[in-house]
Amino acid sequence: MRLTISATLVVLAFFAQSASAQPIASPLVNPVTVADDQRIETWHDKTILVFTPHPDDDTFSSGGTMARLAANGNKVIIVIYTNDNKGSKDLEMTRERLAQIRRAEEEKACGLLGIPKENIHWLGYEDGDLEYADPRVLRGEACRFIKMYRPDAILSPDPGTKWVQWHKTDHRMAANITQDAFIAAEWHLYYPQHLLDEGLQPYSVPVVYYFYSQEPNYEVDITTQFDAKIQASAAHVSQFEPSNSKYTPDMPPATYNMIKTGFSGYHKVKDKYVERFRRAEAP
Ligand SMILES: [Zn+2]
Repeated sequence: MRLTISATLVVLAFFAQSASAQPIASPLVNPVTVADDQRIETWHDKTILVFTPHPDDDTFSSGGTMARLAANGNKVIIVIYTNDNKGSKDLEMTRERLAQIRRAEEEKACGLLGIPKENIHWLGYEDGDLEYADPRVLRGEACRFIKMYRPDAILSPDPGTKWVQWHKTDHRMAANITQDAFIAAEWHLYYPQHLLDEGLQPYSVPVVYYFYSQEPNYEVDITTQFDAKIQASAAHVSQFEPSNSKYTPDMPPATYNMIKTGFSGYHKVKDKYVERFRRAEAP
């Protein structure tokens, strides 16, 4: 995610409030009513495709939900747009080494969430440069994964509804491109080679759960998975101090406790922990 923007903001914002303050997650906006069997947290044997700009946005935003889906016997597939190879302040770090570190951290994090590394697809775009990739090619890559896996649901950053939601670089491109890929996946003439060369049929995405949303309308109870989420978040060692400034694979207990405290404040609603999304059917 580069420089731990989400995590850092979460933690700092949390500490700016008292420990008994209200949760600082975006409040629910017009919560949707969804039948129990349509609720993603009740699913079994489904396929969920997660598009993430960097190898950690999936964990930070949706790790509890992903762990719950995996525990329920669903197949969770992750597509990571960038290699996250620039977010270090360690002057001895190289892009090549950081990309390797980030890959290993993501694989460990996903393992802690119950998702095998074989389920992770790396598109490998340079960190911070996703907006300079060819959008038509990028959309085609996302579109191909949708046609290939034919997911029952997708998780992706929220591009906004009436107004475009601001995201930092890579996140805004990932949000927009993934949404554009939904449309392209419906029509075989957008990327006809997918059908002609690989036999991939068009596909309409039934429902999307947008994360990093400023207007969430849906929440998933992740109380049971909260510890796994903390452990998985802490697996992204290089994204937190002191490792971000001087890389070490070990995380001091104080940093771990800071993550746990910050995320507890962020996710706690009354007596449970939640993750919030904007749910949209047939996007
Ligand atoms: Zn990110």
